[in-house]
Amino acid sequence: MFFVFCVFIVPIIVFVILHISSRRKTDGDALPTEPMEICAFCQKDFPINQLLEKEVGTYGKIYCFCKDCIENLYNEFNNTGVKTGE
Ligand SMILES: [Zn+2]
Repeated sequence: MFFVFCVFIVPIIVFVILHISSRRKTDGDALPTEPMEICAFCQKDFPINQLLEKEVGTYGKIYCFCKDCIENLYNEFNNTGVKTGE
């Protein structure tokens, strides 16, 4: 009788434990995603940690700029031949 108990009950317990632990894992994956913000230039959505936040103007409005737009601005700045004063 004890043997039967082990054969049927133990696998069920193990299965239940595995099921619970795997469900916890998927719950962890379903954590709220990072807040999204729109790039002020290209108007695309990016996670906030991929954007540069800059306070612009005297009213202190904060704009977000993505890496691509910053690089484009940088290249544009260099290509216009603006002297950097060096
Ligand atoms: Zn952008």
